Amino acid sequence: MKCPFCGHKRFYMKDAADGYETYGFNCETGEVCFDPDVDASEVSAPEGDSHIYCEKCAWNGEFGSIKQ
Ligand SMILES: [Zn+2]
Repeated sequence: MKCPFCGHKRFYMKDAADGYETYGFNCETGEVCFDPDVDASEVSAPEGDSHIYCEKCAWNGEFGSIKQ
């Protein structure tokens, strides 16, 4: 899994209730791995229609659209 625009493998998603809260994760292994500072018990892994953002470029879109 990687950004369809720049090929970067790190993304983040925003908290649905608080748009300023973001959760970073990488997909280098093909699985979603949240950053160490993210409490995995507080956030659910992105699903097909979750909106995610590339950490490196301006790309953003549905998680399902980059999942291979
Ligand atoms: Zn990108």
